[in-house]
Amino acid sequence: MAPAEPEYGEPVLPRRVATVSLHTSPLEQPGTGDAGGMNVYVVEVAKRLAERGVAVDVFTRATRPDQPPEVEMAPGVTVRHVPAGPFGALDKQALAHYLCPFIFGVLRTEARNAPGHYDLVHGHYWLSGRAGLAAAHRWGVPMVQSMHTLARVKNLALARGDTPEPEARVRGEDHLVRQADHLVANTADEAAQLAAHYGADPARISTVAPGVDLDMFTPGPRAEALRRIGLSPDTELLLFVGRVQRLKAPDVLLRAAAELLLRDPALRDRLVVAVVGGQSGADVAEPRRLAELARSLGIADVVRMEPPRSRAALADYYRAATATVVPSHSESFGLVAVESEACGTPVVAARVGGLPTAVRDGVSGVLVDGHDPADYARVLHRLIAERPWRDALGAAGVGHAATLSWSATVDGLLDVYRGTLVTERLPVAACQ
Ligand code: UDP
Repeated sequence: MAPAEPEYGEPVLPRRVATVSLHTSPLEQPGTGDAGGMNVYVVEVAKRLAERGVAVDVFTRATRPDQPPEVEMAPGVTVRHVPAGPFGALDKQALAHYLCPFIFGVLRTEARNAPGHYDLVHGHYWLSGRAGLAAAHRWGVPMVQSMHTLARVKNLALARGDTPEPEARVRGEDHLVRQADHLVANTADEAAQLAAHYGADPARISTVAPGVDLDMFTPGPRAEALRRIGLSPDTELLLFVGRVQRLKAPDVLLRAAAELLLRDPALRDRLVVAVVGGQSGADVAEPRRLAELARSLGIADVVRMEPPRSRAALADYYRAATATVVPSHSESFGLVAVESEACGTPVVAARVGGLPTAVRDGVSGVLVDGHDPADYARVLHRLIAERPWRDALGAAGVGHAATLSWSATVDGLLDVYRGTLVTERLPVAACQ
């Protein structure tokens, strides 16, 4: 798997990267629990790095006694299960207490190899970053960190009733910003937030957009997709995909659907609202609350709560939908929006976080300021009523998604990796 030694003057590529994804395994089904966009990111990037000759080991916490210590996820990609703390799901606050055993587990695994086994560490999310940083310092290799979400930014945009991110996370992120050799931001917005809220040095931040699987998410005939998911061809399907969390605000879609039916009662016979995804973290009660909300709004007959679906099955939901709605309060990028666009379906999204990058306002979808259901209902009503407009947005979405391939993401990451391999390491400082 290791590429040939570079010729003099050729850029250096890492031969083997230790990717750390402590709190969630790339082998989990995304859309429930702690598994979401970050899992998809780690899987898609690891597979493509390996195809380019860079082997990837993904270190994740073992959550079941029957998990083998290592699993070959794809050629050149190995998932390593590290025992740390009790088996079973642990919330992120509890996980912070098991950082030490996790770090020891990573170091123990590496100790079986010849020195210099890993050329670089890439951490995903702050918990992995803390573990990855310790390993990178021990091995004397560069540490690249992707935060995916930022506590200070999340706390500024909490949904009503949501719990703020703890101070320990903020301090952990501060330390990583000072100590990681390089930070990867998903969008220019996130890069600016790292600088503004964490004092990160812009010279040590690169913006690399995540991608979309353009083989899996393709446009296709809508009527057939509707039939495959059990709906009649005249259905107007409004789709929410993702973990059912307050932060993602699926309630806004339900309230907008209720408004839509008030405006146009005749729609009732053909309107379906599908919420695809499962419960997550502290929001265990959200799916039940959502079902209750549907009943109290008098729209339980049009709302379908669907379990998490495989990515292949999701493609049919996107193709079948009139619009995919992403009303999140905070969203670091929004893979769901781009997947929908790749399938030719417009997106109606909140103008927050990475969504203005994922959705081209007025071109591939519509960005809405705030979370007033009436604003979403207005846009959705127009999309249902004006078929040519909807089709034009859908077609432009396919073009926009095509600019966001995982292959381009890997190009960007390899540039970052090459840069850090030839840059002097930062001096190690203690975490405050
Ligand atoms: N997803 C999935 N099945 C589901 C729901 C979601 O595979 O039932 C995937 C979805 O395709 C997307 C990811 O989970 O790739 C969610 O990523 P996004 O960036 O939208 O949200 P995040 O989970 O990062 O908050």
